[in-house]
Amino acid sequence: SSEIAKKYIDLANKYGAHNYHPLEVVLTKGFGEWVWDIDGKKYLDMLSAYSAVNQGHCHPRLQKTLMDQSQKITLTSRAFHNDQMGLWLKQITEMCGMDMALPMNTGAEAVETAIKIARKWGYVVKKIPLNSAEIIVCDHNFHGRTSTIVSFSSEPQYKQEFGPFCGGFKAVPFGDADALEKAITPNTVGFLFEPIQGEAGIIVPHDGYLSQVSSICKKHNILCIADEIQTGMGRTGKLFAHQYEDCHPDVLILGKALGGAFYPISAVVGSKDVIGVLKPGDHGSTFGGNSLACALSQTAMSITIEEDLPQRSFKLGEKFRKALSILPKHVVKEVRGKGLLNAIEIQKEAGHGRFYSELLQERGILAKETHDVTVRFAPPLIMQDSSLDFAIKTILEVFSKTQDEW
Ligand code: PLP
Repeated sequence: SSEIAKKYIDLANKYGAHNYHPLEVVLTKGFGEWVWDIDGKKYLDMLSAYSAVNQGHCHPRLQKTLMDQSQKITLTSRAFHNDQMGLWLKQITEMCGMDMALPMNTGAEAVETAIKIARKWGYVVKKIPLNSAEIIVCDHNFHGRTSTIVSFSSEPQYKQEFGPFCGGFKAVPFGDADALEKAITPNTVGFLFEPIQGEAGIIVPHDGYLSQVSSICKKHNILCIADEIQTGMGRTGKLFAHQYEDCHPDVLILGKALGGAFYPISAVVGSKDVIGVLKPGDHGSTFGGNSLACALSQTAMSITIEEDLPQRSFKLGEKFRKALSILPKHVVKEVRGKGLLNAIEIQKEAGHGRFYSELLQERGILAKETHDVTVRFAPPLIMQDSSLDFAIKTILEVFSKTQDEW
């Protein structure tokens, strides 16, 4: 990186906690699927801030909403009503086909909220003994970084040295419906899962799993809680990934692209019997439901639907995986994903994800490894066909050889 880029990287390293290991690139501008670094080099963004930039960088409609709303009012707190939250609630519940929603800010907060709602539903509606609620989760899940959420992570680094942990969670293998059914007890209140596991390396379950999960939850009267923070908002080629099957979550958790990459907003969406268990004082957030977030999120949802982003993601994703299916087997173990949520898993002996991410960076593509052997590709859904062609051509070149052969 240049002297000037080095200056910004040094500042981050000197004054910031070292809880990330970013690529050595300093971004200063973005538009659509493209971003520019501080030296003016242009890159195709194939990470989209971990799937939060589905509508593309600095979408003009979102810019306008930001300007308009910021000239009126931005934050009221929930001590008062504002004229954006109600409109946002109507739009998000209609989009999800659900009755009620609760706005929060980040993904992890929405997951925490869903856990609290599921537990309260267990005590109030299902009438299980107080403080005995169990929630079933999946091995290799990723739902965020709070101390409750890392309590049920299976990733040693996410939890070691962060204990003591929060109880009430039980993990079963992802993709194994029998294991889920066997793990249910009279105190189980819900099953929390990602329809495609994102941070685990874009793990797509076998066909039929999501339908099985849905019917098992119904049969045993436990809440089916889908975390679509990463997979939602058109990312996987449907508005929501669970819509690929006959799967009907009782609770839907959204975040990331719900704010159109302008402002953090997340949500827990569900039926009246479930979300309705909360009473004044049970839960809250200073910024949750603020006017600016709600205004931007309405525009983000409208763009997603009006620009047909789920369908665009579906079509481009099919083309992407088909084009990459010719990659040599001694380098690439598997190309997998749905819509524009994809990953290349590298053969263990072939090299490291970080090495390939750096080769892509040199050639004008920003992507990031997740774990050592997987590189994730999740570009903005608004991307042009010609940008996808550029991505395919570059990826075919970079993954044509092992690390040693390079
Ligand atoms: N749930 C899933 C499925 C995610 O992919 C993520 C983030 O990657 C989260 C929750 C946490 O969201 P946040 O980083 O906004 O807290």
